[in-house]
Amino acid sequence: MQSSLHGMIDKAHRYAEQPERVQVARLEAVVRGDNSDHTVTLTEGRLSCDCDHYQHERLCAHVLTVERLLKAFIPANAAPFPGS
Ligand SMILES: [Zn+2]
Repeated sequence: MQSSLHGMIDKAHRYAEQPERVQVARLEAVVRGDNSDHTVTLTEGRLSCDCDHYQHERLCAHVLTVERLLKAFIPANAAPFPGS
């Protein structure tokens, strides 16, 4: 039991050194804006937001914030203009 736990921990350390092994499939993040909080969701590889700006433009600062922070862990085209 003890050695199996050590094996798991060793493997987790090795995996964690290769972040490309991890892909976030679904996510709900609350972004604290200057005026209010907004919920950014990742579903089916795309980020979306509940704010008015996103509803009109399909893009907003909240989506870009989450894309910037989690870039390594979400699909490359999760935001409409990745990296901008
Ligand atoms: Zn937003």
